Amino acid sequence: MKIYNVLNRKKEEFRPLDAETVKIYACGITVNGDAHLGHARQAIIFNMITEYFRYAGYKVKYVRNYTDIDDKIIDQAKALHIDPLELSRRRIAETDAVMTKILTNDADVKPRVSDYIGPIILFVQKLVEKDCAYVTPKGDVYYSVKKFPRYGKLSNRKVEDLVSAVRIDENEEKRDYLDFALWKSVGPEDFGWDSPWGKGRPGWHIECSTMINEILGQQIDIHGGGRDLIFPHHENEIAQSESLNNCQLAQFWIHNGLITVNGQKMGKSLNNFITINDLLEKYHPEVIRFFILSHHYSSPLDLTYDLLEIAERNLYYFYTSISHYRKYINAVEAMPPEEGDNNVLSVFETCMQEDFNISKFLSELFVIFTGINREKKAEVKQGKIMTLLYALEKLYPILGMFGDPGEFIKNAKEKYLALLNIKEKEILELIHVRKEAKSNKDYSKSDEIRNDLLNRGILLMDTAGETVWDIKSLYSKT
Ligand SMILES: [Zn+2]
Repeated sequence: MKIYNVLNRKKEEFRPLDAETVKIYACGITVNGDAHLGHARQAIIFNMITEYFRYAGYKVKYVRNYTDIDDKIIDQAKALHIDPLELSRRRIAETDAVMTKILTNDADVKPRVSDYIGPIILFVQKLVEKDCAYVTPKGDVYYSVKKFPRYGKLSNRKVEDLVSAVRIDENEEKRDYLDFALWKSVGPEDFGWDSPWGKGRPGWHIECSTMINEILGQQIDIHGGGRDLIFPHHENEIAQSESLNNCQLAQFWIHNGLITVNGQKMGKSLNNFITINDLLEKYHPEVIRFFILSHHYSSPLDLTYDLLEIAERNLYYFYTSISHYRKYINAVEAMPPEEGDNNVLSVFETCMQEDFNISKFLSELFVIFTGINREKKAEVKQGKIMTLLYALEKLYPILGMFGDPGEFIKNAKEKYLALLNIKEKEILELIHVRKEAKSNKDYSKSDEIRNDLLNRGILLMDTAGETVWDIKSLYSKT
């Protein structure tokens, strides 16, 4: 299995550190707002990656953290007159609920920073003892970047170049521009924890280093997160952890690309901030998955509603095909295929072995579906369908799509009937009237009904003695 390793800037063969379990950590969510599309992308990608490892026969321990305390959370809680950790607890419950809708499986461990304050303080103390960090008179503790010669190895920057990239705050008691806070002192009335350096709160970077150390150990196989975390967050995690443990923190660094909306960075100030809940109001969770997984995890992703609608139509095509396949198989009473050679699974594996190229597999799948839909020879068709259905069932934990066609199709139809302001009952009545007109050889009336419905967004299809209806826009060319 080849993975693009950001640390070495090349694709490398994956071999787990220990034969037992693949250890994966992905920086999670700071719960100072609603979970948004960027969070969804990361969670879906690492869900796909961890489930692929399981599919490939590995045991996996996957950790995704929650940062449940930061300045924003504290301010928001103050405004609401509640305890900041209570606010975070509610937000984490909401986020977990949303994630359940879009993931097939969440992380194995979802630690919260506030549960690791003791180990964080110990970690910082050890860095001070090792002379990698220093305490200021005010009670802040800083990591001393110049004590770590490998600083910059992940982001491929030289320490000299970095000086200008980092904001300089005149008031800080830092010895060096690049030094970053491990512990930040707070006033006696402020929210914080007691420490050997007085009351304070942990710096953001030390949280991840500590949780990795506590839950997964000194070395992990894969560290992940959004591309925007490479510098300084991940660079700082490396410095802290490797100074403490004298060994490489993570073998592989995987970063997912960032999301823009209509070409713009997503942000509250730009008024284009899209939460997962906003999307779920408009789209089936699998449409969101399909949209995200049909782009390579490392590439940037620009969200437009046009693209989501294309994803919806594509998925609808897959699902209506699956629905036909199931009926066909039931009708011929075919037996399920035996385990063994399955060309759909081998196409899948080939794609995934090359840096989790699931988007390539989804386009290959489209070719497989159109091939079956064009197939005329009954026996060949039957074999291909059985192979495909077997594969899709097996791949469900990774794909999180192509489950129950009935549910998806019903959902999509209901959504569009409401948008088109027409009821199924009315359509069925019109189909009935049209049938009568046809049997009375009143073809102009039957055509009129068909055209009227088409103008209202409903497509009629006459097949083998019966007329079925569908949503026209779900059949539009993509
Ligand atoms: Zn982190």
